[in-house]
Amino acid sequence: MEIKNGIPVSPGVAIAPALVLDSESFRIPRRFIRKDEVDTELKRFELARTKAIGEISDIRDSVHSTAKEEVGLIFDAHLRMLDDPLITREIPEKIKTKRYTPEYAVSRVFKKIIKPIREINDAYFLQRVNDFYDIQKRLLRNLLGQRAHDLTELDRKVVVVAHDLTPSQTATLDKNMVAGFITDVGGATSHTAILANALGIPAVVGLGTITGDISGGDVVIVDGKTGRVIVNPDDNTRAKYEARGQGYIDREKRLADAAAKAERTTKDGAAVNLYANIEWDDEIEFANKLGADGVGLFRTEFIYSKYGAHPTEEQHYETYRRAHGLLEGRPLTLRTMDFGADKFASEVGLEREENPFLGCRSIRLSLRQPHLLITQLRAALRAALLGPTRIMLPMVGSIEEFRAGKMIVENVKGDLEREGIEFAKDVPLGMMVEVPSAALTIDSFMDECDFFSIGTNDLVQYTLAVDRNNQYVANLFKHTNPAVLRLVKQVIDEAVSRGKPVSVCGEMAGEARFAMILLGFGLREFSVGPTAMPELRTLLSRVTVAEAEALANKAMALCSADEIAEVLDAEVQRLLPSEEFGE
Ligand code: PEP
Ligand code: MG
Repeated sequence: MEIKNGIPVSPGVAIAPALVLDSESFRIPRRFIRKDEVDTELKRFELARTKAIGEISDIRDSVHSTAKEEVGLIFDAHLRMLDDPLITREIPEKIKTKRYTPEYAVSRVFKKIIKPIREINDAYFLQRVNDFYDIQKRLLRNLLGQRAHDLTELDRKVVVVAHDLTPSQTATLDKNMVAGFITDVGGATSHTAILANALGIPAVVGLGTITGDISGGDVVIVDGKTGRVIVNPDDNTRAKYEARGQGYIDREKRLADAAAKAERTTKDGAAVNLYANIEWDDEIEFANKLGADGVGLFRTEFIYSKYGAHPTEEQHYETYRRAHGLLEGRPLTLRTMDFGADKFASEVGLEREENPFLGCRSIRLSLRQPHLLITQLRAALRAALLGPTRIMLPMVGSIEEFRAGKMIVENVKGDLEREGIEFAKDVPLGMMVEVPSAALTIDSFMDECDFFSIGTNDLVQYTLAVDRNNQYVANLFKHTNPAVLRLVKQVIDEAVSRGKPVSVCGEMAGEARFAMILLGFGLREFSVGPTAMPELRTLLSRVTVAEAEALANKAMALCSADEIAEVLDAEVQRLLPSEEFGE
């Protein structure tokens, strides 16, 4: 039994055999062969090795003629490794004596080679690790003769173990078969994490080396609340975690019951709206069950994952029509497509960028390729006749960007008018506040922008220079950093004083500890993942505005993110005591 700790991103307990995907999404099964298969499997391995030698020799020869000698030397080293007894003897030995499949033998032997080198943690040796990974991949590719494993076609429950899962891979996970997932990399507000929550799949990310430590078929426990991962648990541990999983489910139920009975106001009667963040229209049914007041953030780029290509105007329209149908008159805030960085960048044909989070993502991409935005806006404006709609531009960093977006909206209206197509003329146009430059100059947007929604996931990332997807700096990603809190407060203050609607739609709004400080800042619209709603509704109904304001003042007087977090946690414990809501 082995215990690992990572970053918890989606609560719940999963217990199932591991399906390990290597960094190219090869599936490495644990499979044993029969005695009479040994010779054939040995030949298969030898064939894969010979093929790898041939491929590397070709590359070496071609770089010798075009590149510097050092580059060729790298491939000479790869060739030597393929002749090393660890590979030529140990792998066949495992096939013969342990009856491992060649794939499994390769992955076991490479794990054995790589682990101690990685533990040295020296830049030179880490570089060598990459060489070993390279060779391992080449062998596996030759053995498997196929590329990425399709996670949509699983025939039994598994815990997916991967170096990383892209948002598009996560989006297509089969919820009924993927009991949980764990990854080497990632952060708490990564889109992969957000999707795990939306799909209700327990997940832990940022485990560092988990793909190297687990083999296909190992039984894995994933505790998505604490971030603990247990490999091959003993019976007692397994029973303990089964009970814990039930405990989480019971807690969710108690919170849902409490929320259903709770006032939809604060304790002293201030109205608070809880809107849902969604990626797909069908999430609205779940959000409705939990009492959502509408949708505050529809991440429309995920429509892409449904169609696998840029959605047509009709596909957009159909999606929004369905959303309005499910919302039955409650409001829908459509964020225009936020492509780029970690979301669908390669799928939509974006060039690789050195620094994609600072590159051509989101509104920048929409302004560069306006036809994408125009298609979406036409559908959104037409569908707005079916229910209250707001359109929101993401990642706005300057007034020029907002104006450019607004101009496109006005042009689209003009086109629809000329074409005699019916559309809603009075759809409010707002913006996400998720770039510090916008937050700092928020006053200059007030005359031209109809509403604001603070995207704290990106705002924290850009304010603190902390990549939201990077597990190595996850400990620095702090919503309670005073710089972040000041920016958030400034935006809420300005919007409230100018009578403009303002919400927070980043993950911050959905966490009990942060919700109270936001309430104290004057926020009355929270847009959160549906699973966060019951806890939030219960909490907000138990606190008065005066209490929240006092808490906010106390927190803002402190200069340490950790001290602020402590103050906020104590208040959550007071309002949602563990005797009532513990697991
Ligand atoms: C945010 O950045 O806070 C946000 C809500 O947008 P996304 O998470 O989709 O980037
Ligand atoms: Mg964002």
